Amino acid sequence: MKCPVDGTLLSMTEIKSLIVDYCPQCRGVWLPRDSLNKLIERAERQTKPPESPAAPATTEKTGEEKPKTIVDDILEGFGLK
Ligand SMILES: [Zn+2]
Repeated sequence: MKCPVDGTLLSMTEIKSLIVDYCPQCRGVWLPRDSLNKLIERAERQTKPPESPAAPATTEKTGEEKPKTIVDDILEGFGLK
């Protein structure tokens, strides 16, 4: 498949068991439908609040750390982060 933006041949790669096509030229990413569905499923799972709020209150937090999202995984997979 060629990039619809610049016509560069897309490379297929696997990130966290998701198959994606990406363009090395403009860094566009295309998801096959199956991969998109998986991605949405994971995102929905990640945004759910934790099942057990009864965590020990002794945990000291050193600065707010944002929860890692699937988007972070993808960016890291492409070395963009
Ligand atoms: Zn492109």
